[in-house]
Amino acid sequence: MKITIFSVNEYEKSYLNKFNSEDNELIFIKEKLSLNTVNLAKGSTGCCCFVTDDLCNDVITKLKQLGIQFITLRSAGYDHVNLLAAKKNQMVIMHVPKYSPQSIAEFAVALILAMSRHLIKAHTNVSKNDFTLDSLLGFSLQNKRIGIIGTGNIGTVFARIMQGFNCLLYAYDPIRNEECKAYGVKYTSFDHLLETSDIISLHCPLTPETHHIINATAMSKMNDSVMLINTGRGGLIDTTALIPFLKNRSNAYAGLDVYEHERNLFFQNHSEELLTDTEFLTLQSLPNVLITPHMAFLTTDSVESIASITMENIESYKNGKYINTIFYP
Ligand code: NAD
Repeated sequence: MKITIFSVNEYEKSYLNKFNSEDNELIFIKEKLSLNTVNLAKGSTGCCCFVTDDLCNDVITKLKQLGIQFITLRSAGYDHVNLLAAKKNQMVIMHVPKYSPQSIAEFAVALILAMSRHLIKAHTNVSKNDFTLDSLLGFSLQNKRIGIIGTGNIGTVFARIMQGFNCLLYAYDPIRNEECKAYGVKYTSFDHLLETSDIISLHCPLTPETHHIINATAMSKMNDSVMLINTGRGGLIDTTALIPFLKNRSNAYAGLDVYEHERNLFFQNHSEELLTDTEFLTLQSLPNVLITPHMAFLTTDSVESIASITMENIESYKNGKYINTIFYP
């Protein structure tokens, strides 16, 4: 079976080949899937896509016309897939529901520590032979109130790690998780979490219900020195509201691994260009913001696990026992 793999990165090719079965031919395409590149899938039975790929109605319809029968995502999140189009075209969609929640949860903690102890500024100062301490006064995590929004796979691991820092753990999730409770998490209302947390970490999926879950109203309830961590999806936070919030509260922080308008920015090298996204440029310029390029998942553990589960998904399609489906006819 021929499978076209879009947005393939060099680091993942060897893992995908490692878990591939002999009767599959993998076609590696560096470009992301879009209406401009969709024809590259011609001749394949399946497509394998990443979060950068455009799985809108027109692209899914065109894929179906080209003979594509299934799409398997190399991601847990599927907010970039038009599910109505999948249904309309009877296109099987699979994903990787859980690969290494530890990797993403650890990265959220890395963002917290980097900001609570001013690691980036300290490194920059030392590289300029400035060894003074006045601008580097940090805070300890002990007894800080941590608000976790979404206690699924990643939120649970995050809770377990933060318990080790002796934090006070609170969570908001419509579904309560017994494992989280065992780590000392107390479930509370959304508003109470916003009003009382020192650090808020987002671990829910991006859906129509969670789009801009952190908007101007939500931010107005947070304390002035809150630290907001987003390793979920950019659209969870209303960026237009976040900018004045951070400008007006010099003691507040934002650690962002994802950005609302990252689609044409992240995962590409724009270092030779002048960026035109003024909101991103503003965020970049704020001293209380730490931005990383959607890399919370990026560990060898994750990449190996994603490749292995992706190949299992493909085999399951071949033997008619679809696993990890988001949609199947
Ligand atoms: P999961 O499905 O295991 O958990 C999500 C949790 O969010 C569930 O418990 C669900 O009940 C909860 N939830 C749903 N709606 C909610 C709401 N309105 N308010 C509060 N909680 C709500 O998913 P996961 O594996 O923990 O991943 C979470 C998200 O992290 C993914 O959807 C993806 O967008 C993101 N992610 C990011 C990266 C990265 O590299 N930055 C990597 C993997 C996943």
